[in-house]
Amino acid sequence: MIEPAPARPLPWHEALIVSITPVARRVKAFRLAVSFDRPVLAGQHVELRLTAPDGYQARRSYSIASAPGDGVELMIESVGDGEVSVFFDTVAEVGDVIALRGPIGGSFVWQAADDGPVLLVGGGSGVVPLLSMLRHRAVAAPDVPALLLYSVATADDVIVADELTSRARSEPGFDLIVNLTRDDTGRRVDATTVERALSRLGAPRHAFLCGSNAFVEAVANLLLDAGVPPGVIRTERFGA
Ligand SMILES: Cc1cc2nc3c(=O)[nH]c(=O)nc-3n(C[C@H](O)[C@H](O)[C@H](O)COP(=O)(O)OP(=O)(O)OC[C@H]3O[C@@H](n4cnc5c(N)ncnc54)[C@H](O)[C@@H]3O)c2cc1C
Repeated sequence: MIEPAPARPLPWHEALIVSITPVARRVKAFRLAVSFDRPVLAGQHVELRLTAPDGYQARRSYSIASAPGDGVELMIESVGDGEVSVFFDTVAEVGDVIALRGPIGGSFVWQAADDGPVLLVGGGSGVVPLLSMLRHRAVAAPDVPALLLYSVATADDVIVADELTSRARSEPGFDLIVNLTRDDTGRRVDATTVERALSRLGAPRHAFLCGSNAFVEAVANLLLDAGVPPGVIRTERFGA
């Protein structure tokens, strides 16, 4: 089992954008060529820095979607008037070089040796670090039971929909529940949704929750109400 690297200043690296692929209505995947001085663990993120010609800098965090050992892929959702995400949606091109450092994060991490069952709950782009865990599970621990409860506004907002559907169909032990909040019968994740997920997965040994503050807060409370012990639940919050 690889231990998360000890805290020490992380160097900035130059990362070359080698491909850009739309993966949902407002989300693009960016494959980067970059070498870190430590291994990537599933669930970690990077810090990215943009510098304008006048020297103004913007820094943001983005989770790593790729499995450990499979390079670095980020998935960035274009949000409203967002400074950095809109840059990636409308300006960034293959061949551009950006500054980033990482991998960062020691507690929101899942490794094959951690075993399961693993409950993954993602809201919107909060699915990205969970995707890294799922991709890691598929190659390193395919027998570990895992369920992804993924909540998004509409079917067009499901990130890597084809990959998730295909994994659910072909990977024994992986189960998928997509919750659409804004389709005809849509509603937010509630006690019934959580109950359904838990009855299909069994009692989770680990529960990873990621998304907006409000989403993570709401789902954590639902899991606690359903009897999931607090020590099992780990959260990552993307802000707004
Ligand atoms: C650990 C971590 C990992 C993250 N991983 C990802 C990831 O994998 N993919 C991803 O797309 N984002 C991720 N984020 C969010 C990301 O860091 C930025 O906050 C997001 O891209 C918005 O930045 P911006 O500069 O475009 O918007 P800003 O200029 O900072 O904000 C512009 C507007 O967008 C709103 N806004 C800010 N952040 C969000 C948000 N997350 N969702 C909705 N509205 C928002 C603000 O309220 C504001 O109105 C992560 C955040 C953290 C802390």
